[in-house]
Amino acid sequence: MPLPIVRAGDPVLRQQARPLTPEEIRSPRIRRLIEQMRETMRKAPGVGLAAPQIGESLQLLVLEDAAELQRELPAALLAEMQRVPIPFQVLINPVILERSTDTRVFFEGCLSVPGYRALVPRHANVRVRARNEQGEEVEMAAAGWYARIIQHEVDHLGGMLCIDRMWPRSLCTTEAYNEVWLHRSIAEAIAAFEADPGR
Ligand code: ZN
Repeated sequence: MPLPIVRAGDPVLRQQARPLTPEEIRSPRIRRLIEQMRETMRKAPGVGLAAPQIGESLQLLVLEDAAELQRELPAALLAEMQRVPIPFQVLINPVILERSTDTRVFFEGCLSVPGYRALVPRHANVRVRARNEQGEEVEMAAAGWYARIIQHEVDHLGGMLCIDRMWPRSLCTTEAYNEVWLHRSIAEAIAAFEADPGR
C-alpha cells in the first residue's frame, strides 16, 4: 500500500533526520519501509522520495527516473535538463562529498509542496557517499537531473525544502508552468524571473 505523503507545514519536514545503523538497515522494518517508499514514489508519481516525506525522520531516500516518466516530455526539454533514465536506487545516510562550482537553474517541484514549480539553482555535479539497502557503503558521481534529484532529496534529510532555495519570484502553479513554460527554453524563464523590475 502506498503511504500518505506529508505536506509542507508538518514539522517532520523541518527536522534533521537521524542516521540508520547497519543492523537497522537490514531489519524487516526498514526493508518494509523501503518497499512502501518505492510504491509511494511510483504511484505519486515522483522521481525521488525521502523518509521524512512519509513522516519518518530517518536518513533514507529512494529515487528512480523511469523512461516512461520522460516519454511525454519534449525532447528539447529533456536535453536541457540533462535527464536520462535512472534505475531504482536506495541511499541511506548519504553525504555529499563534493559539489561542482558550476550550477544549473531549472524548474523543480516537490511532492510535499504539490501544485507548484519554481526555478531552483543546484550544483551541476555532485559526488555522494551512502549506504545501500544491503548496508554496504557506496560512492557515486552524479550529473544533470540525477545530481538535482540527489541534492533535492538529501536536503529533505536535513529539514530543508526546495522552496528554501528557489528564486521566489519564479514560483508558478503547475497549470501555469504547463501552459507557459513547458515548451519554452529555460533561458527564457531565467530572463523572465531573474530581474526584479521593482528594484
Ligand atoms: Zn521534495
